[in-house]
Amino acid sequence: MSENYFKKYPSKDGFYKEYGGAFVPPVLEKEMKKIADSYFTISKSHNFISELRSIRKHYQGRPTPVYFCNRLSEKYGGRIYLKREDLNHSGAHKLNHCMGEALLAKYMGKKRLIAETGAGQHGVALATAAAYFGLECEIHMGEVDMKKEHPNVARMKILGAEVIPVSSGLKTLKEAVDSAFQSYLKDPDNTIYCIGSVVGPHPFPMMVRDFQRIVGIEAKEQFFDMTGELPDNVVACVGGGSNAMGIFSSFLEDDECSLYGVEPGGLSLKKGEHAATMTKGKPGTIHGFKCYLLQEEDGQPQPVYSVASGLDYPGVGPEHSMLRDINRVTYDSVGDKEAIDAFFELSRLEGIIPALESAHAVAYALKLAGEKPHTSVLVNLSGRGDKDLDFVIDNYGKDYQI
Ligand SMILES: *Cc1c(COP(=O)(O)O)cnc(C)c1O
Repeated sequence: MSENYFKKYPSKDGFYKEYGGAFVPPVLEKEMKKIADSYFTISKSHNFISELRSIRKHYQGRPTPVYFCNRLSEKYGGRIYLKREDLNHSGAHKLNHCMGEALLAKYMGKKRLIAETGAGQHGVALATAAAYFGLECEIHMGEVDMKKEHPNVARMKILGAEVIPVSSGLKTLKEAVDSAFQSYLKDPDNTIYCIGSVVGPHPFPMMVRDFQRIVGIEAKEQFFDMTGELPDNVVACVGGGSNAMGIFSSFLEDDECSLYGVEPGGLSLKKGEHAATMTKGKPGTIHGFKCYLLQEEDGQPQPVYSVASGLDYPGVGPEHSMLRDINRVTYDSVGDKEAIDAFFELSRLEGIIPALESAHAVAYALKLAGEKPHTSVLVNLSGRGDKDLDFVIDNYGKDYQI
């Protein structure tokens, strides 16, 4: 890996080799340039840096711990560690970039945050950030998703956000994105669009990665403090790829650390039954950027599925797409069943109930620990499982004696 990785990627136009960029209509192109320019100056300023540090410490409760899983390691082999993003305020890593994006909005003089949400996790994190800064918040959500994810709709409303139901097309994520962009274009001067992962047009994949880098920076130091060495393996689940970029970023230049991105294998690797973008996708364009994409012959995104709704995206971050091509990160998939097993194993052996998304990374770590028993495995536990309890009990309770 090059020593100047972060100076080199992305390029000035937001490219990670052939991936990324900003393929958007001219009005949006102008806005994206403005955001990129503001980000470059503001994010380097002393005031911005010290305010973000203070928020992380006093509001989010950072640093989150690194925890050694004694009973899990005994049963599966290896030495398994967790970076506890489930203990970050609001229960997942997403608040790391939402606070950063909202702070940038404040410095840019914006009054309103806008976003789409699928399962509601990004909407809740952004509504949290908006409440903290006293900004208006508008979240677009498909009507089908609103019914399915009712508790998150309630959370967003309690936090003071306006939830806009989207009733066109399939009434899910894709339509919510279109609706949010339309609303954004009506008043771009007062509004900032806050993307929920390391995806979308430049500068979002870079900004979101930079705001998530704190996860890797903390984890590297904590792991070294605990063990006197670097982890042999680092594992994270990949939906769009923000929690994975956050933890990988600190180890990219340490060739002795093997990095693993875990995508959702769903029910099977047949079309429509998974969202294993890296395994089954080909380079293409979605939502204004180039990446590996699960696509039809004509380039339209394929339908995707996973038991973890935060992972079912047909694209993936452009930086991940590059890291795959240069073989720095190994991408593999874990199916629903293995993820549910890992969900119960971590709950029952360690007393930690993970998000179903994070359970994919745990499942992969358990396999890895068995195959390489003399190594250490650091897992980014991206979130807690409270949001998944009803779903798991209704669908899998019987199989696990509940
Ligand atoms: C949203 C979410 C993910 C997936 O998003 P990435 O951008 O791939 O990190 C993973 N884990 C949790 C807990 C989530 O809420």
